[in-house]
Amino acid sequence: MKKILVINAGSSSLKYQLYDMTDESVLAKGRVERIGMDASIVVHEPKDREDLRYVEEILDHTTAVRVVLQKLTDPVHGVIQSIDEIDAVGHRIVHGGEKLTKSMIVDDQVKQEIRSLFDLAPLHNPAHLMGITAIENNLPNVPQTVVFDTAFHSTMPPMCFMYPIPKVLYNKHKVRRYGFHGTSHQYVSEQAAKFLNKPLESLKIITCHIGNGASVTAIKDGKSFDTSMGMTPLEGLMMGTRSGDIDPAIVPYAMAKEELTVNEVNSMLNKHSGLMAISGLSSDMREITESMDKDPNAKLAFDMFEYRLRKYIGSYAAALNGVDVIVFTAGIGENSVVLRKAVCKNLTYLGVKLDEQRNAERVSKDRRISADDSKVEVLVIPTNEELMIARDTYRLLEELQQ
Ligand code: ADP
Repeated sequence: MKKILVINAGSSSLKYQLYDMTDESVLAKGRVERIGMDASIVVHEPKDREDLRYVEEILDHTTAVRVVLQKLTDPVHGVIQSIDEIDAVGHRIVHGGEKLTKSMIVDDQVKQEIRSLFDLAPLHNPAHLMGITAIENNLPNVPQTVVFDTAFHSTMPPMCFMYPIPKVLYNKHKVRRYGFHGTSHQYVSEQAAKFLNKPLESLKIITCHIGNGASVTAIKDGKSFDTSMGMTPLEGLMMGTRSGDIDPAIVPYAMAKEELTVNEVNSMLNKHSGLMAISGLSSDMREITESMDKDPNAKLAFDMFEYRLRKYIGSYAAALNGVDVIVFTAGIGENSVVLRKAVCKNLTYLGVKLDEQRNAERVSKDRRISADDSKVEVLVIPTNEELMIARDTYRLLEELQQ
């Protein structure tokens, strides 16, 4: 059992990576975009072979998986001889709710549970289930596993996961904080401990996963204690197009004043807020930073983004009664020299001392960006959620075969 296919199925997209677990190398990765639309895009990037990018009509996820399997076994662009070489398939699942708190092998009960969470993750869980069905249709005898974004946060105590609203909403409708990006927060915290050569359990860590979606997690004893995303991935930090924290009274007020429906207000907060709304320019941090010297709206967007992130780091330092390590990861966290510098500049009260030269280096590897005499270690760790999914899948299959 050596080759694991990792799938991340979205409503109109399907991303994949094929791992050889003998050395955890990626044999091929790629994606199918615009599934169900008139011109779907297929991108296939095999190791040591020529990349492939073309347009084809792909009507559903089952066809998308068939196309992916064709590419993986293609005589020119493929990396395996036959689909029989795929030992297992691991899926990324956004919402596991309160019951699915660890990675597991897919069976009817697990699928039913994922289905029962459609209301809590309407954009994600239905798409993930389509991905599982598409694999079943193409590879009926291959075991599948599911790895949940929420699972790492299942260790949060009630003090952190409950909202101060009538309890009936929790009892009847499971309204509580779940948290997301858990696979990433877990991966970078484990890597941080390895990098520092210290036991994970001995460290108070604040992990900042800052991409289009963004969340911060407070980790102690190697476990998630609190995290900024909530019942949905809308809460917490300001993001590319998401508002993050706002006064909840704004929602009914805006609905009344602008005569918005539930769908419209949801779309406003998820798709038309954040960096995009304030800059009026872009949801992309690169464009914001490139324009902020001459464009005051871009500058305001950047300043708000940075300030809100810094406030979360400060509040989690209070939650943990101190912090040993701050980790930056994901698109912005790994790449934005300017954002990391701005955040760290005002964390000196915690004992953070940035080494500007280290911060400015552009390399994609685990590294320290704090000065040697900084009281808090500040690290940049490229995230790798797919590898975590492949590892969990490998472990579960070994257990199954024992
Ligand atoms: P997603 O949440 O979609 O996985 P990513 O983790 O890929 O997002 O992050 C996307 C964000 O990373 C975008 O805002 C993009 O501008 C930002 N980003 C990528 N490279 C850079 C860079 N060199 N400098 C600043 N921001 C960057």
